[in-house]
This record gives sequence, C-alpha cells and structure tokens, in this order.
Amino acid sequence: MGARALLIIDIQNDFLPPKGSLAVQNGDTIIEPVIKLLQDHDWDCVAMTKDWHRPDHISFAKNHELPDFTAFTYDSPVTGSTEKQAATLWPVHCVQNTWGSEVAERLLAQFSKLEVPHTIVNKGYLSDREYYSGFNDIWNDHHTELDAFFKKNNVTEIYVVGLAFDFCVKNTAISAADLGYHVTIFKNYTKAIVNDHKSTDSLIQELTQKKVYVQDSI
Ligand SMILES: [Zn+2]
Repeated sequence: MGARALLIIDIQNDFLPPKGSLAVQNGDTIIEPVIKLLQDHDWDCVAMTKDWHRPDHISFAKNHELPDFTAFTYDSPVTGSTEKQAATLWPVHCVQNTWGSEVAERLLAQFSKLEVPHTIVNKGYLSDREYYSGFNDIWNDHHTELDAFFKKNNVTEIYVVGLAFDFCVKNTAISAADLGYHVTIFKNYTKAIVNDHKSTDSLIQELTQKKVYVQDSI
C-alpha cells in the first residue's frame, strides 16, 4: 500500500479576503476547515505550496504596463521552442518575503506542529515564466521539488485543497495525475476565482477527463 498525502495549495495572504491583492472570493472561509483536515485525519505526509515571486515576475500586469487581469500570450522561455501559452496578467501578488506571500498564520502554526513528514514547496521564483502547477511551470520545463518529496515518502494518493480551484489547484492536480498519482480534489476545501455554475461544471468535466477525481469532502 502506498502512502496518502494532503497537498495544500497557496493559502497565502494575497489570495485571501479582505486584504489580499489577488483575493479569491470567500477564500478565507476554507482556512478553518483545512486546519481541521490536518488535525482530524492521519495523513502519511503533508505538502504545502507557496506562490513565491520576485517583483519583476512576468505574470504581473504592471511589469507589462497593462491593466490587471489582461489576457496575455506568453512566448516560451525554453531555448528553441516557439510554443505559446494563453494566460492572464495579475495584480502584483505573493512577492517573496512580504506579508502577501505568508501562509495564513493559524494554518501555518498547525502545519508546523505536524509529526509526519511535511514540507513547503515554493513555485514561481523564476521571473521569466508563469507557474500554475506546484510541480512545474506552464511549459513543464522547470520542476519544483514536490514530486521528489512525494516519491521519497512513497506517496501514491494525493488529496488536494486550497486556492484557487480554477488555477493552481486545477493545474497541480492535473500535473499529479500525469505523474501517475491517484489524485482527488476536495471541492469544499477550495474556492475558485471564476465561480459561476457553468464554469464550475466545465472545470469538473475537464478534471475528470484528465483523471482527477473531484469530491465534495473527505
Ligand atoms: Zn503567481
């Protein structure tokens, strides 16, 4: 039997109302439930991701002198590649060593008390590329240490929670499924940036096609 991991995505001040620069609507309402998930269940290991940008990050609209939330097409930073990626430019968020990049304080306190293996993995620290997945950049060129952490702990099943459902939770879950893990998103422990019914339905449909299971709760 493989091990079971909880994976907590980007529950950082900038993604949380009321003061975050890129606050996900009601994002703060999942903090206490996620703390309970940590307290009440026997995870074999737990990983947390943090968005972790330098001020010159390519995803900040300001760095292109464009308005926040502008649709934008990235050229690949990979030498020799002409691949392009459609994405969105964001308000400045999760700048390294600022308040906005800190994990919600009560959650971090609970996480730090874990007696099972646990780690925090940063993503987004290369300024020339965008990251949505906690495993890799949008080009699947640069890889974080998340996969190595799970492999070292013999993880086969990953349960994903956090922010935002339609960006970093989604893309991290798809990466994990592509890497061969059995992946489940606990929907009641996530919030989406675009959260109307139609968008949520098509998101769940896409995840199902990519072999990611979505269930309301544990
Ligand atoms: Zn970011």
